[in-house]
Amino acid sequence: QEDLFKNVVSHAKEYGYIFPSSEIYDGLSAVYDYAQNGVELKKNIREYWWKSMVQMHENIVGIDASIFMHPTTWKASGHVDAFSDPLIDNKDSKKRYRADVLIEDYAEKINIKAQKEIDKAKARFGDAFNEQEFVTTNERVKGYLAQKNEILQRMARSLENDDLADVKALIEELGIACPESGSKNWTEVRQFNLMFATKLGASADTAMDLYLRPETAQGIFVNFLNVQKTGRMKIPFGIAQTGKAFRNEIVARQFIFRMREFEQMEMQFFVKPGEEMKWYEYWKTTRLAWHKSLGLGEENYRFHDHEKLAHYANAAADIEFNFPFGFKELEGIHSRTDFDLKAHEQFSGKKLQFFDNESNSSYVPYVVETSVGLDRMFLAVFSKALQEETLEDGSTRTVLRLPSVLAPTKAAILPLVKKDGLPDVAREIIEDLKWDFNVAYDEKDAVGRRYRRQDALGTPFCITVDHQTLEDKTVTIRHRDSMQQDRVAISELRNIINNEVAM
Ligand code: ATP
Repeated sequence: QEDLFKNVVSHAKEYGYIFPSSEIYDGLSAVYDYAQNGVELKKNIREYWWKSMVQMHENIVGIDASIFMHPTTWKASGHVDAFSDPLIDNKDSKKRYRADVLIEDYAEKINIKAQKEIDKAKARFGDAFNEQEFVTTNERVKGYLAQKNEILQRMARSLENDDLADVKALIEELGIACPESGSKNWTEVRQFNLMFATKLGASADTAMDLYLRPETAQGIFVNFLNVQKTGRMKIPFGIAQTGKAFRNEIVARQFIFRMREFEQMEMQFFVKPGEEMKWYEYWKTTRLAWHKSLGLGEENYRFHDHEKLAHYANAAADIEFNFPFGFKELEGIHSRTDFDLKAHEQFSGKKLQFFDNESNSSYVPYVVETSVGLDRMFLAVFSKALQEETLEDGSTRTVLRLPSVLAPTKAAILPLVKKDGLPDVAREIIEDLKWDFNVAYDEKDAVGRRYRRQDALGTPFCITVDHQTLEDKTVTIRHRDSMQQDRVAISELRNIINNEVAM
């Protein structure tokens, strides 16, 4: 698993998908740049999302709000007071950690012990094994699971009551050591706000404290009535947005999974109070189906329903994905009640209500949100697509099986040799296809090596121009996944490619 993840990171760099930011200055922690192929893949994921959310739903429209917002926005939303993580330092190693993550990692280790017992029993009893029964009767497993739950519940309780002393006490009682140095010499736990602050305006007395938005959602809430009125929207309706968000994460790690600057794709769906659970279930189902439609393997997704809810939510679930480092959150679906709109009414003194013609009355709508990280989608797609294959002749190939609809380059056009007019024909094909698809030209090295390079880049089709092309206007089209090669007329290429890559 660890090797797989290392491969993902190095393949992303070697094939022009992702570079460390400011690399010539040794990079900046948890900040990355999307390279020539990465930018295309990212754009295609964004468009695939946008099409399914906005274009395919008559009652969902998009906006593009600013990253800077009036500072009161973040008071109203609760971010100034409550958008923080519990932080702890190790006095000896001087390393900084999220206290809740240290405890969760400890609990997960106990969980793994229970899982190992279960797996052992499963192997021993075969088909006769009943997991449910085993878990409720086996004393050792019962003990592990109870211990794990007790730890997590106590942590949740302490955090909810803002009892940070107890969070520290828990770390000490469990004997949790610094993962890097093994030292157990901890500081107090304190809350650390995750918003980046900056200043607007030049002169000291008129300058205003601003924040870089930590989520895109608030840009939608403050525009709710503008969109509703100018778009003549009727409830239920949604507003979608993609854009950058910023969080000063205490520990940013795992490549582009957790970054300090990242992009979200969010949709806020405004519904009648009382109907939120119906829509919450609807969006959970719809979003899971969207993920599965990419064909990365249905077994790689699962729901995680939240027991501990954020201050604004009355129901919340994550869609988790099987990343190279295990199942982790990819998307959140939250029933946010009327918390945000009511708070903005209160802080702005403006009404944010929908006038319902049927009942002749106004109300503040409830909101169901779907929120997915674009960079996390990228990592999910890229890491599952990257495969090492052993071929029939015993040789291996590296292939990036990106869903064709998302692949940066749809076809590479390759003249078999650099002479006899073959490059000219290849150029003509490119001139024709480039209006509809991203296509590439490559004439360097033997054609077999060029195929392998396009496999590793994730290009679904290679089109080879040879001497027969000059006689009958046909080419060889090679499919990335099956490596099958067909002889087809040049005039058919557009249709063949389009059938596979159209959104
Ligand atoms: P996590 O628990 O992983 O910190 P979260 O629950 O705080 O995530 P939300 O506030 O629900 O995340 O944000 C919605 C989505 O935005 C997440 O599902 C994730 O895909 C993405 N996201 C959040 N924080 C980051 C980050 N630091 N880097 C990349 N993507 C992020």
